[in-house]
This record gives sequence, C-alpha cells and structure tokens, in this order.
Amino acid sequence: MLIAVTRPQVPLRAAVADLPAYVPGARVPVGAAAYKLSSNENPFPPLPSVVAAIIDAAADMNRYPDMYATGLTEAIATSLGVAADAVVPGNGSVAVLGHVLAAVCEHGDEVVLPWRSFEAYPIAVALAGARAVAVPVTGDGRLDLVAMAAAVTGRTRVVLVCTPNNPTGPAVRSDELETFLAAVPSDVMVVLDEAYLEFVRDPAAPDGLAVHAAHPNVVLLRTFSKAYGLAGLRVGYAVARPRLARGIRAASTPFGVSHLAQMAAIASLRAQRELLERVDALVEERVRLLAGLRAQGWTVPDSEANFVWLPLGDRATSFAADAGRAGVLVRPFAGDGVRVSVGEREATDLLLELASTWRQ
Ligand SMILES: *Cc1c(COP(=O)(O)O)cnc(C)c1O
Repeated sequence: MLIAVTRPQVPLRAAVADLPAYVPGARVPVGAAAYKLSSNENPFPPLPSVVAAIIDAAADMNRYPDMYATGLTEAIATSLGVAADAVVPGNGSVAVLGHVLAAVCEHGDEVVLPWRSFEAYPIAVALAGARAVAVPVTGDGRLDLVAMAAAVTGRTRVVLVCTPNNPTGPAVRSDELETFLAAVPSDVMVVLDEAYLEFVRDPAAPDGLAVHAAHPNVVLLRTFSKAYGLAGLRVGYAVARPRLARGIRAASTPFGVSHLAQMAAIASLRAQRELLERVDALVEERVRLLAGLRAQGWTVPDSEANFVWLPLGDRATSFAADAGRAGVLVRPFAGDGVRVSVGEREATDLLLELASTWRQ
C-alpha cells in the first residue's frame, strides 16, 4: 500500500512570493491595427545606420560580448563629458537600478520612493531585500521632495527621484532638488532616474550632470529605450562616482549587454543629432496633446516626458477599454489614472477625439 507523504516544498523568499506583478503595456494583437501608446516607446522606426550596425554585429553572435562594454562605456563618457570609470552600462536601466540597489542595500534597509511612480521601483526594492517607503506625489502629479526628505531615517540607504515622473509627467525643479539634497545626509544615495531626460524642456529642471558633479551621493540613471528608440535591445546606464560605479559594476549581470545592443547604442550616439530631431517632433506632439486635452476641460499635470497622465480615478480601466476599441492602446492604472504615450499624429487625433466624448 502506498502512503501519501506530504513532503516539504522549496520555499520562495517572502519578498518574492509577495511581489506585485509588473504589468506591461497592452500589445497590438497580431494582424490587428492599433496605435500602441501603452509603453512610452518611441514610435519612430530604427535609423538605417543603427540597423546596419546591428546587422554587422550579428556576425559575431557566437562570441560573448565585451563584458564591460568598453567601447560603449567610452562613447557614453565622451558624449557626457565624464570619466569612463563613472559609467556603468547594463541590460536596460531597470536592471541597472537592481544592480545599484544590490550594491548598497543591506537586508531591511529603507529605500524612499515617490508614489505613484515607476512600477518597477517597489519590485526592485523588494528583490534587493530592502523596504520601500512610499511618499505620495502631490495632487498635480509632482514629487513631494519636502516630504521625501522628511521620510529619510537612519535606516534609509537610497532615495529614488524619478524626473520626469512616470506616469504623472512633471519634472522636479532645480531649486527644490538642491534644497532636498541639502537636507539628505551625504551617506544616503540619491538616484536621479532620468529615463525621459531628452524630452525635458522646462528651463527650471535640473542639469543632472551638474548635480552629480556637485554631490558625490547622486547617481544618474539613463536609458537608450525612450529617446533613442532602442527599447527592444535593453541598454541603460548609471553615472556614479568611481567608487560607487565599481560597486555597481561588481553587482552587475556578467555579459549583461549583448554585442548587438552595444553596437546599436554606439551607432545611436553617432546619430544623436538625427535622433534628437525626432525627440523635438515628439515634444511638439506632446504639447499639442496636452493643449488639446486642456482645451476640452481636462485637468492634466504638466508633462516633461513622452506621455501625459489623465487622472481618471475609478474610470481609468473603462477609459482604457474604450480607447482600445477606438484603436489606441493606453496604459490604465486601476483606480488612479491612465498614461497615454506620445506617438503618431494620427494617434493623438484619435485620442483627442475619444477624450472629448468622455467630457460630455
Ligand atoms: C522606461 C523607464 C526606464 C527605462 O527602462 P529600461 O530598462 O532602460 O528600458 C527607467 N525608468 C523609468 C522611470 C522609466 O519609465
């Protein structure tokens, strides 16, 4: 006779078992026609010069990539005017954030972050074994840097400053950031996540590189996913003081940036002028979308990024469903609002048309 024995199962870490799932933006079903405004992607196709670099790189696929992405690191450092030992590339800036946290957080340390903000933050913090301390953004979608500074305790290791803030849109101002940095102890790392930096036009916004130069505890996070249109290849990087950069590099996934991605990012830096003209066009489209919504009577936060935020509250998911039926995929955050990425002109027109029916 067989006796059923319940054998102990391999436990998951509590932090992992409790993780909120990252909800990706809706994708266009195969064969369907829709504008994808759900993931803050760049709607322009890759430049021919970048595609050519990728095709060239494909011939070396049997080899591991350059482990430290030396050529890319140097190209980034030159373009920013910083030393190469201050730059740490990684497999998308979300991965780099994970490496940053892994480099500095001990179990139970606190990480102060704004909320609502980038949904990858609470996941990355929990995976690092740290504790997220969420500080609500203001009614107009701005980071409350005064409250964030006040939330720093003796256990705080890192503060995440998302500027412009995803998904609400505003960027922090230089003066409020300086006041904040003066209040935060010098042994607490401040991460400026500048994923949308290239879209910022507000003259009051901070110059991240100057802030980094003035404050050794400030680390910048940047990405090729948005303005440079390489979301599918996964390249981002941190800019940090060499001692911190060494720690972040040590915590990084070995060979994390593929050869294709390295070559594409280098080619993108070479094509910077052309790519930034596309960013200008997207900024114009953002201005048109925001102005159109406000003319309809919507109260929408300022946006310095490639998306706008509709604070729809309980109506967020039904608005997103309606937009999907109209051929526009947007990103709802249930009970809170809808984020609409800036894309093609026709997509803006469709969205504005739909939004006007929701005002009636
Ligand atoms: C899109 C985004 C990133 C970039 O992520 P990648 O991993 O580089 O694609 C980082 N931070 C924020 C706030 C973002 O919205």
